[in-house]
Amino acid sequence: MPKDHHILVLEDEPATRALLASLLEAEGFRVSTAESAGQANDLAGHHNFDLVLLDLNLPDEDGLYIARELRAKSDVGIIMLTSRKEDIDRVVGLEMGADDYVTKPFFPRELVARVKGLLRRLSMPRTARRLDADGHQVRRFDGWEMDLGKRSLQDPAGREVNLTRAEFDLLTALIEGAGRVLSRDQLLDAIGSQYWTPVDRTIDVLVSRLRRKMELDPKAPAIIVTSHGYGYKFAPAVTSA
Ligand code: CA
Repeated sequence: MPKDHHILVLEDEPATRALLASLLEAEGFRVSTAESAGQANDLAGHHNFDLVLLDLNLPDEDGLYIARELRAKSDVGIIMLTSRKEDIDRVVGLEMGADDYVTKPFFPRELVARVKGLLRRLSMPRTARRLDADGHQVRRFDGWEMDLGKRSLQDPAGREVNLTRAEFDLLTALIEGAGRVLSRDQLLDAIGSQYWTPVDRTIDVLVSRLRRKMELDPKAPAIIVTSHGYGYKFAPAVTSA
């Protein structure tokens, strides 16, 4: 892992902010901190951050709003920090554009692992990552077309569907395992998030976001179906080209 990554910590609680900064600095990362969205904006005007640790509850601006703004204008990695179960429910219910999230109080080891996992994903070349043995990079299902090389998805009407990096990686894993039930653990591995805990809802969050973008009726999904208590299965037949 290159040590020159620059991370922005946006967190209004002084103790948490200091803890995050010292944890990341101990790993050799360059760290800047901000206690408000305004301060973070000033910093972002002068630096190119590789990753932002973003507190959901800030005094001057909603973290979800900031995530959407960041995602609209850059490809920076975003890890959302949430503090309560209600926060996670808010996150589940909203389109946020974050790549991952960590619930407070967090285990330092898990936090660092998630940061490193996301930076690793970000450093992967964006093209030709997953060609099959015949060099095919296009997958088709039910009129949809996904190009794994260009990292694009088109709906049956030919419209481009915007996916975040994590959504794309998860959909790729599901499609490559089409017809089989994949556990949350396997899916977390596939998107580079290895530290699974029983309360981890990363995969469920991403699946509900994909369903809203892809399913005719997200409440009665026909593409990504749930295997209760275990994981998810990609149901349509997939062809490669
Ligand atoms: Ca806060």
